[in-house]
Amino acid sequence: MKIFDRIILFDIDRTIFDSNKFVVEFDRFLATKNSAIKLKQASDKIPNNFDFAAFLEQFGLKVDDQLVSEFMAFNQQDYCLGNIKETISRLKGERLACLSYGDEDVQALKLKLLDLDLPLIATDNHDKGQLIASWQRNGVYLVKLRGETVAARTLVLIDDKQTNLDNLPADCLGLHFAKNSEHKNHITDLNQLLDYL
Ligand SMILES: [Mg+2]
Repeated sequence: MKIFDRIILFDIDRTIFDSNKFVVEFDRFLATKNSAIKLKQASDKIPNNFDFAAFLEQFGLKVDDQLVSEFMAFNQQDYCLGNIKETISRLKGERLACLSYGDEDVQALKLKLLDLDLPLIATDNHDKGQLIASWQRNGVYLVKLRGETVAARTLVLIDDKQTNLDNLPADCLGLHFAKNSEHKNHITDLNQLLDYL
């Protein structure tokens, strides 16, 4: 098994992806199918726990290849946040992936909209620190990337939600990406990640 020195994990929603803009645009798209669908209204009620896939299912819709290609053709927005493209171009040689809460097909659509070809780990665990701790085996972290299990000596997680960093193992690095934060590793620009590596 390959052992990497580290894998850098990016959260998607509100870290590299403008989720608010997406909901508005997707709502516009859904209205062309069924005017009764109010995605923004529904997601505003529970912004952190909104189940996008289950919401669409109520209307007989699914994020499958057809819906994805229809939305890609409809979409007129750029959802990149925080210079993610520039940051990635400066991280050549690093092993990168996304660790995101949510439905795998929906999160994959977001990466497609960002035009980022990164491995995706979609999880329904609300505590990423705890999830990462569960990957520990004999001094390394076993991470499943695109169906292949690889090992890393340490992991770096960049997330806009501080609670995702709270339970990270001590030998991992958590960076809180937010305008304001009390977190010891607080970044306001994704490029500041490079200062920690
Ligand atoms: Mg987030």
